[in-house]
Amino acid sequence: MLQQTQVATVIPFYRRFLRAFPTLQALADAPLERVLELWSGLGYYRRARNLHAAARLVARDFGGRFPADYLKARSLPGIGDYSARAILSNAYQQPFAVMDGNVARVVSRLKAIHGNINQPKFRAAVQQELGQILSRRRPGEFNQAMMELGQTVCLPRAPRCPECPCQKWCEGFRRKTPEAFPAPRPRRATEFHFLATALIPHGGKVALVRGLDGGLLTDLWNFPAAFGSTRPEALHRLQEKLSELIRGPVVFGAPVAEIPHTITHRSIRVEVYHVEARGGLSRKSVRWFSFQKLHRSAVSQLARKISAQLGGKF
Ligand code: SF4
Repeated sequence: MLQQTQVATVIPFYRRFLRAFPTLQALADAPLERVLELWSGLGYYRRARNLHAAARLVARDFGGRFPADYLKARSLPGIGDYSARAILSNAYQQPFAVMDGNVARVVSRLKAIHGNINQPKFRAAVQQELGQILSRRRPGEFNQAMMELGQTVCLPRAPRCPECPCQKWCEGFRRKTPEAFPAPRPRRATEFHFLATALIPHGGKVALVRGLDGGLLTDLWNFPAAFGSTRPEALHRLQEKLSELIRGPVVFGAPVAEIPHTITHRSIRVEVYHVEARGGLSRKSVRWFSFQKLHRSAVSQLARKISAQLGGKF
């Protein structure tokens, strides 16, 4: 849950999640839809799908106990090098050093390693130094201490060197240029998109479909929508999409809302159109949600936003 997400945001989701799934077996037994419901609002849904799939595999293949072997841990969905090292060092005190952005910053300052975290050569140099200083006796606590040091003392812009317990070994401090390490990472350019979205009300409910568009949010329920690089292109693509979904004539009203939204590096201008489907909708692809039920279901953050803004009007 904490990947790309702040602690304060995660806490209520985490508590709710553990109440619903107090054991690995409870998570493994739950349907994916229920897991996504509880994840809804946190974003990055692949994490939830992987967590659920991994719980099922651990229950089936490892007797319900997370494997204490690196390669077996890595065979589970969603467990990459970072997660395997973090789990094995913390849960089983195995001598794996964990490098996240905070730790990389601390080590690059301690050892004056040039480069930025996107560069494989930089990461390899940091990982090697980290392996040298790792506590073999208490690797889990060492990893947590390094993360904490990066979060609270060795801050990106203004490191608190006078309070730092590592000051006397720190090459960055000795050179009086700790902020020079590491170099800032190049940012991924923001993409701008238009998203035409259909609000199709009927009998106090609205029609949602699985997935957003362009392979995004495939497990979640969304208002029917289509991306475009221009407003007319998005609208045209939405009309095409709806012609497959709706039997008979489709009547588009004027836009009823314009909502800014962001999905990872995409900055999206969402235009919501009121659409009348006079001939009915394909039952196979559509599910009807009341605005009250929508908030408790596996719907996207964008669908929640639209519902919060327009729920009282339809
Ligand atoms: S002395 Fe300063 S730069 Fe070095 S690790 Fe500590 S806080 Fe970071």
